[in-house]
Amino acid sequence: MKSVIVVGAGIWGTSLALRLAETGWQVTLVEQHKPGHVRQASAGETRLLRCAHGGDEWYAKLAWQARDGWRRLGERAGEVLYHEAGMVWFARRPDGWEYASHRVLKNLDIACELLDPAEGARFFPDYRGDDLSFLLWEPHAGVLRARRATQVTAGLAVAAGVRLVRARALPVRAEGSSETPAYLSAVEIDGEVRHADRVVWACGAWLPALFDAATFGGTPLTVTKQDTLHFAVPPEWSVPETPAWLDYEASAYGHGDVDGVGMKTTSDAEGPPYEPEHGERVVDPAGVDQARAYLRRRFPSLASAPVLFSQVCQYALTPDAEWIVAEVSPGVWLLGGDSGHGFKHAPALAGYLAGVLDGEYAPEPRFGLHERSPSRGLRTSGEVW
Ligand SMILES: Cc1cc2nc3c(=O)[nH]c(=O)nc-3n(C[C@H](O)[C@H](O)[C@H](O)COP(=O)(O)OP(=O)(O)OC[C@H]3O[C@@H](n4cnc5c(N)ncnc54)[C@H](O)[C@@H]3O)c2cc1C
Repeated sequence: MKSVIVVGAGIWGTSLALRLAETGWQVTLVEQHKPGHVRQASAGETRLLRCAHGGDEWYAKLAWQARDGWRRLGERAGEVLYHEAGMVWFARRPDGWEYASHRVLKNLDIACELLDPAEGARFFPDYRGDDLSFLLWEPHAGVLRARRATQVTAGLAVAAGVRLVRARALPVRAEGSSETPAYLSAVEIDGEVRHADRVVWACGAWLPALFDAATFGGTPLTVTKQDTLHFAVPPEWSVPETPAWLDYEASAYGHGDVDGVGMKTTSDAEGPPYEPEHGERVVDPAGVDQARAYLRRRFPSLASAPVLFSQVCQYALTPDAEWIVAEVSPGVWLLGGDSGHGFKHAPALAGYLAGVLDGEYAPEPRFGLHERSPSRGLRTSGEVW
């Protein structure tokens, strides 16, 4: 039986562990805290699922496959993990990212519609769209209950035979390696070395501290602090009646209330550098003012809604927002650099990675540790509000 150690029980590690256990691997999943602990990126209350990715087909297809995966996972767990509330994209230019997304989605036969900005009134109890060029409506997009989905995935993995070990794992350097670091297909836990046929380091924002900078080649990882805000709103602003929304050019996004934590309205612009283990998780008041300014412009009746819930999370960013799926020594894989857009894909990504680990195909060249040109367009433009 093939063996694998997956380090990190965020949504990427748990989804992969589940998939591998169900396809005949002997799987150990090592997590330093508990699956769903609040420091991990996967423990955000919610994450958006959308297929629109500008002109990129690969991620659009993966997100579409993942949608099925989430629905199946919810059925297995007997609870709703994915609210298919749809997503309204607020397009400011006639020929920008949203239009490119529309063309790709049409080619892939994924439902979407171009609408006049005035039609926004159909989706939101109160709305202003006079600064917009058009709306892109994605009816099968929606909101994932992220933290819960991570815990559920971990539970299913254990039920499928995964051995969950609570410990901090360290990489094991191969003897004699010097300038170019080489590693064994093993982890060290409390001084003991454990070997497996494959080791996958799915450690999110902790990855850069675990490996030498040289290991990452031309793909350095930057970790940034990201504040998330939810505002208290009247009941008609709940999911699924109120959909998710995204203003690409303003790097603003949100969705209606899920689980009573309020309407999410937050910025995707990159925050300051951050350390995920010891960093204080207190939101910056300036972000609250910015979010209110956005609400005032787009949903004026919510301009003075109080903050109901806030959360600090972190992005693990590559220069071009493409992920890292790379074998750095025989059997030793880095899986990370999710760049703030990885959650939605997890069930489908796990299937893709299973094929990579089985040697059925090589990972996409885009995920390699080569020089990468700065670009962040897979999420939003980076402009602030
Ligand atoms: C504010 C915010 C909003 C986002 N919005 C979206 C969105 O709308 N849609 C979307 O698709 N994605 C979104 N994302 C991105 C998404 O959350 C991440 O892509 C995803 O959660 C990454 O999961 P992960 O498993 O790679 O990392 P994590 O969830 O961070 O998990 C890594 C785990 O590794 C563990 N670990 C690290 N080192 C060790 C070690 N040495 N030993 C043992 N365990 C270790 C950590 O404790 C942690 O639990 C967002 C991210 C943020 C921060």
